[in-house]
Amino acid sequence: MTTPRSSPPRDRAAALRAVVGLVLPVDCVGCGVPDRALCATCRTHVAARPARVRLIAGVRTDAAFEYEGLVRTLVLELKLRSRVDLAGPLARRFGALVRRALAEAPHGTVVLRVPPSARGARRRGFDPVVLLLRRGRAPVGSALVRRDGRPGGGGGRGGAGGRSGDGQKELTATERVAATVGALRAVGVAGRTVVLVDDVVTTGVTLAEAVRAVRAAGGTVVRCVAVASVED
Ligand SMILES: [Zn+2]
Repeated sequence: MTTPRSSPPRDRAAALRAVVGLVLPVDCVGCGVPDRALCATCRTHVAARPARVRLIAGVRTDAAFEYEGLVRTLVLELKLRSRVDLAGPLARRFGALVRRALAEAPHGTVVLRVPPSARGARRRGFDPVVLLLRRGRAPVGSALVRRDGRPGGGGGRGGAGGRSGDGQKELTATERVAATVGALRAVGVAGRTVVLVDDVVTTGVTLAEAVRAVRAAGGTVVRCVAVASVED
């Protein structure tokens, strides 16, 4: 569409983007067309991607997207490179799902976030779920706490939660569940209904632990909402 320019190797382009960050216009992460973080064609492509519904610990879990292709790229760019300029398409659908969940839930239902992994939180310095909720005009709510008492922080139990990227990938499914149970704690939810929110659902083990924590604290999870979900 615009003037072609000599295209640098992909890794150099990526390195450049990481340095340039939000200061200058960048190429589309989907197709590489210059000067747009996500071009109109790729936006349309993302908007056409399917949502997912799963059942985790007996709770309906709405994911705004399948975690694949360009959606996966957007999530990773946001989480790993703080590309908040790419949050829009994710935030719109995720926020709408959270607002719908609340509209269908009993009055007084609270939103609780599954805390990010300790390593991810340290690396990023921001919580992508909070950012997406804000951008999606949904209530941010508070975070479940880890067993060590620090919301989203602390290194206890290997960052807890068995989340991928936390060095627990080598664990078997059984070991992962065993390492996760008891990792999270819910506070102030006795007798209340709760919508749980998270970014990416993979095995569902972490979300199941979050549901367990709410139930253990006397609350009821009426729905889970995620930004994206892998095939289960
Ligand atoms: Zn594009």
